[in-house]
Amino acid sequence: MSFDELLHRRMRTIDNWPMQGVQFRDIMPLLADPEGLRGCVSAMRGCMALAGFDDIHAVAGIEARGFIIGSALAHDLGVGFVAIRKAGKLPGEVVAQAYELEYGTATLEVQKDLVQVGARVVLVDDVLATGGTARAAAALLDAVGAQVVGLITLLELAALNGRDRLEGLPIESVRQI
Ligand code: AMP
Repeated sequence: MSFDELLHRRMRTIDNWPMQGVQFRDIMPLLADPEGLRGCVSAMRGCMALAGFDDIHAVAGIEARGFIIGSALAHDLGVGFVAIRKAGKLPGEVVAQAYELEYGTATLEVQKDLVQVGARVVLVDDVLATGGTARAAAALLDAVGAQVVGLITLLELAALNGRDRLEGLPIESVRQI
């Protein structure tokens, strides 16, 4: 089975979760499938090759599903992993960035001393929706001196125009829906 077919079969859409009006794209069944997890990594590597994201020093993943696929990708590439977490989870000195959600705001944080200045970092998340989360994460990496090479996502919700909020950041998604 091709990865595209696997993605189609194993990714499920949950209507009205976590709130009314949201169609939640659940990648957990895909990740629970050994071929699915392996396929995610090779699809993301394919995206990196296509986009010319090379000579990478680290992968940064956004909490929480970006941790799973981002660390699998980092392991496959033989590079380190940087966690971008929700506020209050990381000890020590952190940089924080607030961003807007559909209702209210949220904050992401990264520890200050994880990447060397100028390190080439690829950002990873499962879904690109409005782009606010990825924009905050990219700003954090920038603030700690990393060079954000681009963003890789498994799914891009094209109708939400997340790309428009991420001008200047190269984006490659495995699938647009
Ligand atoms: P956004 O900031 O609007 O681009 O939202 C992206 C973040 O929210 C990612 O970390 C996703 O995991 C999560 N997210 C947003 N919309 C969805 C959705 N429809 N299904 C699954 N995850 C979503």
